Amino acid sequence: MNKELLDKELLNKELLDEANRCLNCKKPLCKINCPISTEIPEIISLFKVGKFNEAGERLFQNNPLSLFCSIVCPHEKQCRGNCIKGIKGKPVDFPKIEKLLSENYLNNLPLDKIEVEKIEIEKIKENNIKVAIIGGGPAGITAAILLRKAGFDITIFESFSHIGGVLRYGIPDFRLPRKYIERIERYLLDIGVKIKFNTTVGSDYGVDELKRDGYIYQIITTGLWKPKSMGIKGESLGAIYYALNYLISPESYELGDNVLVIGGGNVAMDAARTAKRYAKDVTIVYRRSEKDMPASREEIEETKSDNVEFKFYHSPVEILENEMIFQVDKEKRAIPYSSVIVAVSQEARRELFQSMPNLKIEDWGTIVVDSEFKTNLDGVYSCGDIVTGAKTVVAAVNDAKKMVKSIIDRENR
Ligand code: FAD
Repeated sequence: MNKELLDKELLNKELLDEANRCLNCKKPLCKINCPISTEIPEIISLFKVGKFNEAGERLFQNNPLSLFCSIVCPHEKQCRGNCIKGIKGKPVDFPKIEKLLSENYLNNLPLDKIEVEKIEIEKIKENNIKVAIIGGGPAGITAAILLRKAGFDITIFESFSHIGGVLRYGIPDFRLPRKYIERIERYLLDIGVKIKFNTTVGSDYGVDELKRDGYIYQIITTGLWKPKSMGIKGESLGAIYYALNYLISPESYELGDNVLVIGGGNVAMDAARTAKRYAKDVTIVYRRSEKDMPASREEIEETKSDNVEFKFYHSPVEILENEMIFQVDKEKRAIPYSSVIVAVSQEARRELFQSMPNLKIEDWGTIVVDSEFKTNLDGVYSCGDIVTGAKTVVAAVNDAKKMVKSIIDRENR
């Protein structure tokens, strides 16, 4: 046990009081509305009697990324939003309990290779079936952990220099500390997952070469990394950036003091809140109303409390060198800027598909799979955003779990 964390936080009276507010409902709406069916009442009960490690282990077994979900899930639509206590007052703050338990559990996973070899690798019964996982985001990481534990020989191919996908290169550090994903990367390496960093399948080599080299399964979990353009004149000018690119390394940008962020989703909120840490004035400009914004209520409120301004009902028309033109009602309005960050949407990059001309994809670029997450190509599976379109971390993890189950079932047939 991580004694320090336990003393300081897990035994914290405030959190225990919070756990004691749980009614342990017969029909737990919190669990029913959790996309990955987290055993919320059971976890709270374990927490109350001090079985922290058991609770953490159960969270990890059900969802290897529970720590991440406890921080970034849209809880207002899931556990917290469906808690009976929330009808007349404050819902039980389960995510806070989940975060502490998950962090404690993760901190106590074997820390070095020797320890891991004793505890983890011994348990793994090797089946020598080679699996290539293309993309190391939440879906790829979940598949890697679960398949490796079931004895598969896993290699992750990742374009960036670290794994994590959006968890590392999208969601900013002030919302989701990097140290958590670094811990998971270490864990993956320790349990014997091979990771090929800075390697893009489709341009470095194609899926045919993976098949040639003995990978029986190829799993595509590449997410959506191509920013969608607004399709207006001026988008390629010097001070106009795409949010997905900006968030990878915000420190390398000189934004100036008057930043416009175009869009109303979570990506726009993250880009605006990040930009606000570097620039004096940041304004989110959205073409519809506040209630139409796809970002979660929580994120909108946090963005407001960071003193980001909002303008609604402004549709982008054109970008000039120092001002951007919007349609507002029937008139055109010019807003000056020092830089513009575009966060209107994202889609799939195509380089992988070019190396797989027979892979069935939708017109808008997502991969077609059946109910077992199989594509139309033998041995090729896929899940995560590249299948569903932009969704959530918990949805990617949940689909990866189901996909792994169908692969294991196939091997056992
Ligand atoms: P990704 O996380 O996109 O990971 C895909 C990985 O594949 C990347 O590491 C990429 O580099 C790699 N890759 C791509 N192509 C190749 C290739 N050809 N070869 C090798 N590697 C490749 N969801 C929430 O639940 N809560 C939030 O608060 C939230 N905030 C978000 C903020 C931002 C800025 C963004 C962009 C998304 C956010 N989301 C949020 C959505 C969530 O992050 C995604 O739904 C989730 O990450 C999808 O997981 P994935 O594994 O499918 O893909």
